[in-house]
Amino acid sequence: MLPEAGSLWLLRLLRDIQLAQFYRPILEELNVTRPEHFDFVKPEDLDGIGMGRPAQRRLAEALKRHRLGVKSKNWVYKILGSFAPEQKETIRPSDSLTCLSEPEGRLKCLIPEDAVCRRELLGSGCFGVVYRGLWTLPSGQSIPVAVKSLRVGPEGPMGTELGDFLREVSVMMKLEHPHVLRLHGLVLGQPLQMVMELAPLGSLHARLTEPAPTPPLPVPLLCLFLRQLAGAMAYLGARGLVHRDLATRNLLLASPRTIKVADFGLVRPLGGARGRYVMGGPRPIPYAWCAPESLRQGAFSSASDVWMFGVTLWEMFSGGEEPWAGVPPYLILQRLEKDRARLPRPPLCSRALYSLALRCWAPHPADRPSFSCLEGLLQEAWPSEGRCVRSVTEPGALRMEPGDPITIIEGSPDSTTWKGQNGRTFKVGSFPASAVTLAELGGSPATRPVHRGSPARGEQHRGSIDGDREKAKPRDLPPAWGQRRKAPLQRMKGISKSLESVLSLGPRPTGGGSSPPELRHARAVPQGPPGLPPRLPFTSNSSQPSQPPRERPPWPKREPPHNHRIGVPGASKATVSSGGLLLDPEWQRKITEMELNVHGVTHQECQAALKATGGDVVSAIRNLKVDQLFHLSSRSRTDCWRILEHYQWDLSAASRYVLARS
Ligand code: AMP
Repeated sequence: MLPEAGSLWLLRLLRDIQLAQFYRPILEELNVTRPEHFDFVKPEDLDGIGMGRPAQRRLAEALKRHRLGVKSKNWVYKILGSFAPEQKETIRPSDSLTCLSEPEGRLKCLIPEDAVCRRELLGSGCFGVVYRGLWTLPSGQSIPVAVKSLRVGPEGPMGTELGDFLREVSVMMKLEHPHVLRLHGLVLGQPLQMVMELAPLGSLHARLTEPAPTPPLPVPLLCLFLRQLAGAMAYLGARGLVHRDLATRNLLLASPRTIKVADFGLVRPLGGARGRYVMGGPRPIPYAWCAPESLRQGAFSSASDVWMFGVTLWEMFSGGEEPWAGVPPYLILQRLEKDRARLPRPPLCSRALYSLALRCWAPHPADRPSFSCLEGLLQEAWPSEGRCVRSVTEPGALRMEPGDPITIIEGSPDSTTWKGQNGRTFKVGSFPASAVTLAELGGSPATRPVHRGSPARGEQHRGSIDGDREKAKPRDLPPAWGQRRKAPLQRMKGISKSLESVLSLGPRPTGGGSSPPELRHARAVPQGPPGLPPRLPFTSNSSQPSQPPRERPPWPKREPPHNHRIGVPGASKATVSSGGLLLDPEWQRKITEMELNVHGVTHQECQAALKATGGDVVSAIRNLKVDQLFHLSSRSRTDCWRILEHYQWDLSAASRYVLARS
């Protein structure tokens, strides 16, 4: 028996107590769709649908357990079961502290709903909103936490949102690293809530894009963040996981000198001998951060995470700029592969660090350094520190006073002018080399090569690379930090968080204020008429192509209006010339009908499906839906067909069904 999408809980509950036969009568005759509705159901009502008194008692017990969130066969456990097999009981408040030190691989803690209180909103992602909160431990002590609540619509959570949310929980609860955001536990309430370590200073991207007068972050601190990130990513890679959404928006500041990798909704296990995860179908991905093989084939690996690390480095050193800003998503792969273009060196970035980024952007994944190798390379590229020995006040030069700490960004023994950052003013500029002595040279004027082989101030490599163990410097926390500039973060977030959240879940509102930011952003990408390449937003510019590309883009020309999807091999083979189909108005009408019926499907996919069914649009639509459901779940195509049939080919409802049971 298959349930209505919004009453899955009821079927589960009834099944668990072998009363599934009462599902329809309860739903249809008693109109119960939510647990609270049982408050109004009298024994006589249950008698009326033929439920005996012993069964009624079982039902009452089950409902009680359901409300307490204690049911051991709870669907959450079913989904998380493979990750948390041993611990099936609710942790009572008195156990809450011990559960924090549970061995890896177990659900860290189930937290009673009333032990957590939510305060102000910190931010919102695609499937959840994040609040600052307080978690009261049994001792009465309260600790600040971040609480991410699953966003719930009028009909309950959307399938993919629930799936992403639970996937994030299941990944996070296995992780334990000083630079990976910690999951404290899960609240099995309505809505579901993740209780996480609070990163009180918000996202690194928000910090980077703080407007003036907030000064830029000191270069050594950025290098420290990079090394923390490389360490965390090496840890994830060693655990066979690929993050897939590495970007400054997903790095949170736990303290002025400590970042934590967050947002694990897209993490996937690396499978097979090749250590890759290949997306099963067309899905939205954060184009500008992605490696070419991810854009081309949907292939992700530690090496594609390394590529993203390079883009994250670039963001850090360019003050949170958007990579490939102004380049339409469909052109990025072409820029990377055909034009061999790379993001330019940002002003704050030394040549040594930039060449490290270029290594991360090697075309072939095998040529990119591993994360553990990157830790060493970062050490090599660590900028030299110097100290000002005389005032520099010349116009156009970086101003400095004797004693100012200076980070050298560029400098060579044979040049008399160097570039650096004044650690007191955070200004960046050129200055006479003779005005600075390198810290390690014992006071002699700076006349040697400036790249050295050790990190600043003897920072450690293993375990926590926590800059806070050093004396915190007031300069690291600028006064205006508290006020974050939200808009760019939201925009960037949109690109990435459109990821699998909109996949195939049936029509969603396509306009107005209810659209998530990612939809609005994507709509800004100029679209051409159906079947024709989108218009280019720019004309002549030395860093960007001045002519529309003659070659066909590697993915479908016409993007669905709501997200950025990678092409699928089958789809990209369909071309305009294959039978001149686009010129046939009847064929075009059918394709439009298919596009309207199968949310997010591309023009090429429609063409291919239509060709496969000899022009039978109904069968083609069904095949596409089966395909999408198949990619969404681990079920066979036959199963997908059966489920879709049951839901009268409502892909949204079918998706919710399979996701809740996967
Ligand atoms: P997410 O849904 O994980 O993308 O989070 C949305 C936003 O909430 C992020 O961009 C952060 O600004 C904020 N946020 C998420 N998790 C935390 C946390 N643990 N501490 C502080 N802020 C957070």
